[in-house]
Amino acid sequence: MEYYKVLGIDKSASDDQIKKAYRKAALKNHPDKNQNNPEAEERFKQINEAYQILSDPEKRQIYDAYGKAGLDSKGSRASQNVNPHDIFEQFFGGSFWGRQNRQRKSSDIKIRIETNLADHIFGANKKIKFSVKKSCETCHGTGGERVTCHHCGGSGKVNVSRGFMHITTTCTACGGHGSIIAIACHTCGGRGSVTETRAKDIKIPVGLRPNTALKFAGEGNKTEGFLPGDLLISTNCTSDLEVKLDGNNIVMPLEVDCIDACIGCSLKVDTFDGKKTIKVPAGIQGGKSLKIPGLGFPRNTGSKSRGDLMLRVKIIVPKNLTDSQVEKLEEFKNV
Ligand SMILES: [Zn+2]
Ligand SMILES: [Zn+2]
Repeated sequence: MEYYKVLGIDKSASDDQIKKAYRKAALKNHPDKNQNNPEAEERFKQINEAYQILSDPEKRQIYDAYGKAGLDSKGSRASQNVNPHDIFEQFFGGSFWGRQNRQRKSSDIKIRIETNLADHIFGANKKIKFSVKKSCETCHGTGGERVTCHHCGGSGKVNVSRGFMHITTTCTACGGHGSIIAIACHTCGGRGSVTETRAKDIKIPVGLRPNTALKFAGEGNKTEGFLPGDLLISTNCTSDLEVKLDGNNIVMPLEVDCIDACIGCSLKVDTFDGKKTIKVPAGIQGGKSLKIPGLGFPRNTGSKSRGDLMLRVKIIVPKNLTDSQVEKLEEFKNV
């Protein structure tokens, strides 16, 4: 794709000519006018990409000198991240054909809930309360009765002259809306949106990995003319610091007295599934792990099958022995 060709102009085109060519081509190929026409949609994309580059003196210079490759290497990637509708709306003003920001999303709501590892192993229900912004039903998001802005004549833009330069800026009187509120809506006070508090039960599924987010599509904020945002719940899992996940295994320390480690014993252990008894074999070494099968983390979300519980042996050496204890140990050593 060659940007000048896309807009049907010469390499020597002035800024004004670029604007004119863009206006004509963008309107002709806008998806609203060409429904179910993928070719027009592709052209619309290219036209906006071309305009985005050629209307920016710096990017145009790079493009003229090095082509598209030059733009890519300079990090000003032309097409990938930019929505052609954004460029279009920036050029024509927000409410073209009475539609504001089609396909664009309202903001998401992000909430963090505190969990512990047991919530993730067995699943849990958490109640949350949050504020959500929604479009005011009384004024349908307009903020009240609106009249055309006198300052900009309804375009939302004003021309400012600085010496020989003419700059177009957003009208400060109306903030680019093109209209101002004459009588503010009594429900929302002119804001166009209202905030309400919502309660929701959040089900943490069995086997949800700690610190992952749950997404509730469409349950976020809602601004008039925008698609609703999402509700994103992240879990902040704060478990005992000594308990760790290793894949689907749960690893926790097991303190064993040094004499017990020598001669072996049975120990009662607190696990996520209650108290369990584990046999410690004679001669166990520090750092070795004892396994309780099936008491680990669920292998998948919703899965009943679980990994193992790994008890890492920590040998406890007694301090401050009595004289008779020392004597006995010395006797033992010399046996
Ligand atoms: Zn209102
Ligand atoms: Zn204005």
